Amino acid sequence: MKIGIVGLGLIGGSLGLDLREQGHQIVGIARRPQTCQEALDRQVVHQAGSDYSLLTDADVVFVCTPIAAIEKTVAAMVPWLDEHTVVTDVGSVKAAIVTAATRHWPRFVGGHPMAGKTEVGLEAAEPGLFAERAYVLTPLEETPSGAVETVSTLVRELNAKLYECSPAIHDRAVAWISHLPVMVSSSLIQACLSESETTVAELAQALASSGFRDTSRVGGGPPELGMMMAHYNREALLTSLQAYRNQLDTVISLIQTENWTGVQQHLTQTQAARPKFVS
Ligand code: NAP
Repeated sequence: MKIGIVGLGLIGGSLGLDLREQGHQIVGIARRPQTCQEALDRQVVHQAGSDYSLLTDADVVFVCTPIAAIEKTVAAMVPWLDEHTVVTDVGSVKAAIVTAATRHWPRFVGGHPMAGKTEVGLEAAEPGLFAERAYVLTPLEETPSGAVETVSTLVRELNAKLYECSPAIHDRAVAWISHLPVMVSSSLIQACLSESETTVAELAQALASSGFRDTSRVGGGPPELGMMMAHYNREALLTSLQAYRNQLDTVISLIQTENWTGVQQHLTQTQAARPKFVS
């Protein structure tokens, strides 16, 4: 297949490396000439440039730009697409993107590879990033089934674990396990900063170790990521934050009333449930 990749960063670059390895013809689109050159030097793509005309005859185009640019990127590409071209994206939220992009191009299939790392940019791209990781496709009822099958085939070639659901269900699920943790973790850091006694605050910072590293990691990430989650997945995030606040109120009440049996039950339940989410 001829595959276009628009946005040659961590995700776009990693897709290029794997799909090229599978024998596909890869064409990359980037805004900056040095990104195009780096993509050619690293053999991420066969051809690269900043002109959408490179996408002519593409069977599939992956839009791998930041979320805020996905819809306008799809709109800008349309004049260059053939009627058979399937367009997909990799954005971490789906409902807002899928509805808007499908208006521009009916053969649009929303996608979200649940793979990533702390670093971003083409230099962080690596082969095998998606292997054994979930990759969610979020077609609408009207999305042509052939388009979904085309993207599904490529996802299987990445050795990713394929899931399919509606955009709204996707956004509610990732609110629990991805977007809520960012807000919880950032609130944890803010709460620690509220310690007013300098001696205590400085000692806490000096003593912070693996437990704090684990629980504060996603709250210490790039602000743009949390902003994107809050902006594009507002409703689902608010629902999960309310549930989290209820849980905090419950724990506060149990401790205030010295209900140690209740605290014990709470912690026993969470210890038993955690493996449902992560092993
Ligand atoms: P990234 O490494 O920063 O790459 C983004 C790419 O998009 C860069 O090549 C950048 O080009 C280009 N770009 C930036 N702004 C643009 C604009 N306004 N118009 C056109 N191109 C633009 O980011 P990433 O981590 O690969 O994320 C890309 C997408 O993947 C996002 O939608 C994100 O939600 C999704 N995603 C990310 C992860 C993750 O863990 N990182 C995981 C799953 C999904 P320049 O070099 O010219 O700036």
